[in-house]
Amino acid sequence: MNYGFLIDQRKCIGCHACSTACKSENQVPLGVYRTWVKYVEKGAFPNTRRSFQVNRCNHCANPPCVRICPVTAMYQRTDGIVEFDPRVCIGCKACMQACPYDAIYIDPETHTAAKCHYCSHRVEVGLEPACVVVCPEHAIISGDLNDPESEISQLIARQQVSVRKPEQGTAPKLFYIEADEVTLTPTAAPFSDSFVWADLITEQQIPVFHAAPAESLVPGGDGRGAAAQTAYSGVAIRAPSAQGLGREGGPIVIGEGSMAEHMVQTAYNAQHEIPWHWPVPAYLVTKGIGSGIFILLALLFGLNVSAFSQTFALMATLLSLLFIGLTTVLLVVDLERPERFFTILTRPQWKSWLTRGAFILIGFTALAGLWFLLEGGAYLNFLPVSLVGALRPVFLTLGFVLAVLAAIYTGFLFGQAEGRDLWQSALLPIHLVVQALMVAAVVLLVLGQFIAHPVELETALLWTFGASLVVDLFLILLGEFGMPHASEMAARAAHQISHGKYRGSFWGGAVLAGHLLPLALLLLGASGGGFSFGFIMVAALATVAGLYLYEYAFVMAPQELPNS
Ligand code: SF4
Repeated sequence: MNYGFLIDQRKCIGCHACSTACKSENQVPLGVYRTWVKYVEKGAFPNTRRSFQVNRCNHCANPPCVRICPVTAMYQRTDGIVEFDPRVCIGCKACMQACPYDAIYIDPETHTAAKCHYCSHRVEVGLEPACVVVCPEHAIISGDLNDPESEISQLIARQQVSVRKPEQGTAPKLFYIEADEVTLTPTAAPFSDSFVWADLITEQQIPVFHAAPAESLVPGGDGRGAAAQTAYSGVAIRAPSAQGLGREGGPIVIGEGSMAEHMVQTAYNAQHEIPWHWPVPAYLVTKGIGSGIFILLALLFGLNVSAFSQTFALMATLLSLLFIGLTTVLLVVDLERPERFFTILTRPQWKSWLTRGAFILIGFTALAGLWFLLEGGAYLNFLPVSLVGALRPVFLTLGFVLAVLAAIYTGFLFGQAEGRDLWQSALLPIHLVVQALMVAAVVLLVLGQFIAHPVELETALLWTFGASLVVDLFLILLGEFGMPHASEMAARAAHQISHGKYRGSFWGGAVLAGHLLPLALLLLGASGGGFSFGFIMVAALATVAGLYLYEYAFVMAPQELPNS
């Protein structure tokens, strides 16, 4: 048994009976949808057309939402249905980031993830899903894709079918007959400020392309007043005009920097909330500081770059533990069901980097905490100094490994978030280590203003800080934003960061305050000015603030693009 859906868009009349039946059958609250009908209007009067597309979970054969779920709340049944269990969901919203189709929402009543589950409660007793039964046109066909005699298999064999975003590799099992490319591609048609029956309230928008300005659409005008816009590629594009005032032009072209020459607009779509906000970039910064401090301690003391200073090591380890603790608090606070956090430990799903990350953080905290106690015991003469000294290389080596893992695992977690193309960067793990070294070095320089330490330690920290600032700037400008992006969605998100909504945070915050200012201070100090308390404090504040602004833009921009 391998359940799938086929939607025959030749027959769909956009009546919303399926959406309504689904709401009723599954008691879906107001404002969220398990299935919905998207409307896109295109053409130039009088040759206009409204295309419909029924959207829902694709019950992918290779579902990224299942892989990323840390507690097996999202799972794939043996009959091919991708099901969820609200009783164990912790509300981490990672599945929403992994789904490239905006199929998952957070139930406002249970605060857990939910989506189409193929009406599995009906299927189990021999009934068809509610949407199939209610459709007056028999436009929705459900059934066993493994049975060559089933209606769905026969239709798929005879008709030309398409799926949404086949390039994502999820192997969707929701097939369409004659779905229009303009409805299948989420960024093909711009939104205006409102849909046919609703104001636009979501943070998700398609940037760059907006409706023509009102003054160009005055009665008697020809609607051609909208200024030409330029695509990322430099190709001139034209803004869509209002309905009834269409331009002469060529066919609709989909893709980066391309736009329909005719009017094209999304007239109705379900609205989706952005899952992750400020706690995630804040967690990236605190985790970078916490893990980076221990990496530097292990390298500088373990490789004898500096003589060991017990007082400095103790205070630095305490700082590291505090920042990792803050990281955990931010992670838990951002859960929709924070009281279920321990479910990650009691029913871990080991393929999820959320689970792996949680255990890495716990392992690091336990090891660094034990080392802190041992060194503290020796400092207070409770433990023999020789014993603690003999154990030191072991703790520094194991702690180094765990700290590096703590710094980089988010790169793999973001890689599992397959709904956000910009996050699919192979550079991300390296970038995270460099960022951790950068912020940790300056935080330790601040600590050095209060705790006595060997001079060679300060020199090494200054060099590390300067080098990581340069490498991080290089990675940002050339690696993440200077190279061509693998997909249109990634390119659009990157464009929003470097030239759109987040350009102030990016250039003013991340590049200028976060890198160029500290580098200038370092150069000034090295050229004879010295590194006064004020210099170090300004450099530290600018670096940490710049990193937060960079992470904020990097986390938010890809989420603001619609996936449906
Ligand atoms: Fe459904 Fe999205 Fe998961 Fe695919 S990735 S099974 S569409 S929720």
